[in-house]
Amino acid sequence: MPSGAGGRPPPSKSADAPAEHLAALIPPLRFASRDGFAALPRLSGFAELLRGAVARARTAGAPPSPALDGLAAEGAGFEALPPAEKQRALLRIAGHLSSLIAVPEELRELAARGRVEVRGPATAATDDERRSDPSALSVAPPEVARSRRASTSTSTVNPNPTAVERKGRRAALSQPLAQLPRAHPAPRALLEERGYLTVEQALSFWPKAYQDRTRTRPIAELRTGDTGLAVATVRGSRQARMKSGKPLLKVEVADQSGRLDLVFFNPPPWRLKQFPAGESLLVSGKLTEGFGGRRQMSQPEVEKLAPGDSANFGRVVPFYAGPADYQHPALRKLMKRLCDELAPLAVDDLPPELRARRGLIGIGDALREAHFPPEGTDPAQAADRSIPAFRRLVFEELFFLQLALALRRRGVRREPGIAFEAGPDRVAEVMALVPFTFTGAQRRSLDEIARDMARPEPMHRLLQGDVGSGKTAVAFAAMMLAVRSGYQAALMAPTEILAEQHARTMGRWLEGSGVELALVAAQARGKAQRDARAALASGRARLAVGTHALLEEEVGLDRLGLVVVDEQHRFGVLQRAKLIGKGTRPDVLVMTATPIPRTLALAFYGDLDQSKIDELPPGRTPVETKVFGDSQRRKAYEVARRELCAGRQAYVVYPLVAESEKTDLADATSGAAELTHVFPGHEVGLVHGQMKGEEKDAVMQRFRAGEIAVLVATTVIEVGVDVPNASVMIVEHAERFGLSQLHQLRGRVGRGAAKSFCLLLAHFKRTSDEARERLRVMEATQDGFEIARADLRLRGPGELLGTRQSGQKLFEIADLYRDETILEEARADAFALVEADPALRRPEHVPAAEALRERWAGRLSLAQIG
Ligand code: ADP
Ligand code: MG
Repeated sequence: MPSGAGGRPPPSKSADAPAEHLAALIPPLRFASRDGFAALPRLSGFAELLRGAVARARTAGAPPSPALDGLAAEGAGFEALPPAEKQRALLRIAGHLSSLIAVPEELRELAARGRVEVRGPATAATDDERRSDPSALSVAPPEVARSRRASTSTSTVNPNPTAVERKGRRAALSQPLAQLPRAHPAPRALLEERGYLTVEQALSFWPKAYQDRTRTRPIAELRTGDTGLAVATVRGSRQARMKSGKPLLKVEVADQSGRLDLVFFNPPPWRLKQFPAGESLLVSGKLTEGFGGRRQMSQPEVEKLAPGDSANFGRVVPFYAGPADYQHPALRKLMKRLCDELAPLAVDDLPPELRARRGLIGIGDALREAHFPPEGTDPAQAADRSIPAFRRLVFEELFFLQLALALRRRGVRREPGIAFEAGPDRVAEVMALVPFTFTGAQRRSLDEIARDMARPEPMHRLLQGDVGSGKTAVAFAAMMLAVRSGYQAALMAPTEILAEQHARTMGRWLEGSGVELALVAAQARGKAQRDARAALASGRARLAVGTHALLEEEVGLDRLGLVVVDEQHRFGVLQRAKLIGKGTRPDVLVMTATPIPRTLALAFYGDLDQSKIDELPPGRTPVETKVFGDSQRRKAYEVARRELCAGRQAYVVYPLVAESEKTDLADATSGAAELTHVFPGHEVGLVHGQMKGEEKDAVMQRFRAGEIAVLVATTVIEVGVDVPNASVMIVEHAERFGLSQLHQLRGRVGRGAAKSFCLLLAHFKRTSDEARERLRVMEATQDGFEIARADLRLRGPGELLGTRQSGQKLFEIADLYRDETILEEARADAFALVEADPALRRPEHVPAAEALRERWAGRLSLAQIG
C-alpha cells in the first residue's frame, strides 16, 4: 500500500485532546455500574486510572473547572471506601464527567441519581448512535508500512527454555490483564466482561471474522455496497443534525480520483477535532449512496496516515464477536500488543520433533497469526480457521486430550484385573439363556467382550449400537459370564423405568437358571428394597440392576466383577467411578444410547476399546416419519386413530425442559385429558417424572399389558422402553428435541411386525432453521450413525453427549466435524508418544507433561472421559 510518508506534517495533537483522556473513564464506570453495581467488586485500579486521566487531561490543556477538581478529589481515597460509599462516589464521578464530556445515557442517569447537575448535550444519545470511539484515544502515532507483519520477536525468545524459564514465561502469560501497565481500560473491560481476565485468556478470544486492509483503492473505484479502503485527504467538515435532531458530523475527503463523505452520528467532542483540513487519512468502511448520489461511508474506521505499524490498517485485521465496530480499533490495539509483547513468551508445549514432522508453526506465531494473519491471507479462510495458525492450535487442543486418554488407557492396562473364564463354551452357554439367536453383530461384540474379560487386565470397553440393536442381550450375556466365574455383575441404568424394564427382561431370561437378580431402585424404601439390598450384600443375588441408587453407601456388593453402565452419558464420571469402586478393578462395559460418530468416539471415549452393533435384529419394520405443522395435528391424530382401531398402541411424548418443569408437566397433563376425547374408546394413561416409582410402574405395567392404548409421557420413555405392539410415536413440540433424542424416541416403535409411524408435531412459527433441518433429517433417514453425524454438524458435541446443561464448552477451537483429520493425527501422535515414553520423562516431553497438568487438565473437560 502507498505509504505516502514523505514530507507530511508531524502528527497533530488532536488525538491528545483532554476529553479523550477523560473518556477513558466511561467504560469502567459503565462496567462497574451495570446491573445495580454488580461488577463493582471487580473494578480494579480505578482510582489510579482516575488520577491519571485527570492529570493527562490537564496536561493536554483542560481548563480548570470545579468538575475537574471534583474528579481529582474523588481519586484520592476511592480505593479504601466501603462498597456503598464507592457506589456513591461513582455517582458523583459520573456527574462530574457528564458535565465535562459527552457520556452515554446510562451514565447521565447515574449522574442524575447522584444529584449532580447535568450539563450534557440536551438530546439523549443511544448507545448505538453514540460513537465515543475509544480508538482515537490511543497515543501511539499510527503509521503505514508496506508490510505490517510485526517483526517476529519469537526468534529472540529461547526456544528451549529451562524449567525455571518456563515457569516465568507461563506466569507472564497467566498474569491478569489488570496488571498490564498502560493498558487501555476500554478494550480491557471488553475482555474482562467476557471472562477473559488474563493475557492467555485474552489471546484465546478468537476472532470471528477478518478483513483485508492491505490494499487501498482510488475512491472512484469503490462501488456502493463494497467495504473498501482508501487514502484520502480531508477537504472540510461540517456539523449537521439528523431528522431526529441528533448531531451529525460530515467530513468531506477526496483523493485524486474522487470525493467521499464520511458521516459520524453523535460525534463526541474529540471526533469534531479529528479532521483538520489537509489531514491525510486511511479510511475503511462500507460505501453507501447518500443524498443526491453523493458517495458516503457511515461510521467508517479512520486513522491518520503515518509511517509505522498499525493494528487497524495495512494488514488483515480481526473482528471479534460481541464488541461493536467502533470498539474494535482499541481492542485490536490491545490484542496486537499482547501478540507482539507476550505471545512470543508462550511456551511451546508440543515436542519439537512432532511439530517439525506435522509441519506445525510455533505457538507464539500461531497466537499472533490467529489474530493478525500474515499478509496475503484470505480472510474467509482465516474465518474458517483453516490457516496454519489455527491448524496448530486445533492440533494442540486435540493432542492434549488424546494424550490424557492415552495415559489413562495405559494406566488402566497396567493394573491387575480379573481374568474371567470366558472361553467359547461359556459364551455359548450364556447366549443360550436368551430366547433368540444373536445377530452376527451381537455375536461379534460379545466375542470381543469375552476376550477382554478372559484377560487379566481390566476391561474398559464401549458398546455402541443403534437404538433397538439389542445391546441389552449382549450386556446380559457378559454379566452372566461374570456370574459363572463366581462374581457379581451390576447394571446401572439412567431411569427407574428402564432399570425396572431391564430387571424384568433379564429376570425372564434367568428363569430356571437358579441365578437370582435384585432390582435396586431409588424410591421404594419398603421391604422389597430392603430384601433386594440384603440379597446383594449377602451374595445370594448375583445380578444387580438399578439406577444410581446402586451407588448408595449401604448397597453392599459381593465380589463385584463386572460393571455395565447403560446409556452412558447420563451419568457423571464420578458416579461411574463410585460404582466401579465397589469392586476391585472390575471390568467395565459402557453402552451408549445412540451411536456416535467416529470422531466423537475417538475424542471422548478414546481410552475405551470399542465394539459396535451395526445390524438390527430380524423382523424390524421401517418407521414412516412425517413432520406436521401444528395446524395439521388432525391428520396426525387420524393416523394414530387408525392404528389404535387395529389394536395397536401409541406413545405421545411431551418435552420436559428442566427450567419450566411445571408448565411442561401441565402440557402433558392437559394433553392427556384432551386425548381421551380425541381417541374415544381408547384408554389414555400418563406417566411423568414426578410420579412415585410404584405409580409409574403401575401405568407402565398396564401399557405393557395392552390395557392402556395411548401412553402420554414426558421424556421418561426416551431411553429404552420396549413394547413391540406400539406402532405410533407422536412427539409434541418436536422442534424442541435434539436429533439424537428424536431418534431414540422413534426407536420405541417399529419393534413389532406392524408398520410403524413417527409423527412429529412442530410449531413452525417458533422453529429455527436449525430445528427445521433436524426434522428434515428425521424424515430423510433412519440410520443412527447418519443422524449422529448430522447432530454433530448441527449442534456440536455438547448436545450429543448430553453435557449441554453443564454449560461446558467441549472444545475451545477444535471442531470435530471440520477437524476430523487433525484429530486422527493428534491421536496417533499422542498414543505413540505414550508408547515410547509412558511417564513423559524425556526432556523434550517435559513441557508437554507440565502443560497437561497445569493448562489442560481442567480445560479439556477431562471429566467426560470414562
Ligand atoms: P437397545 O440396543 O436399544 O438397548 P434392546 O436391547 O432393547 O435394544 O433390544 C430391542 C429389542 O430387540 C428387544 O425387544 C430385544 O428383545 C430384541 N432383540 C434383541 N436382539 C435380538 C435378536 N438377536 N433377535 C431377535 N430379537 C432381538
Ligand atoms: Mg437399551
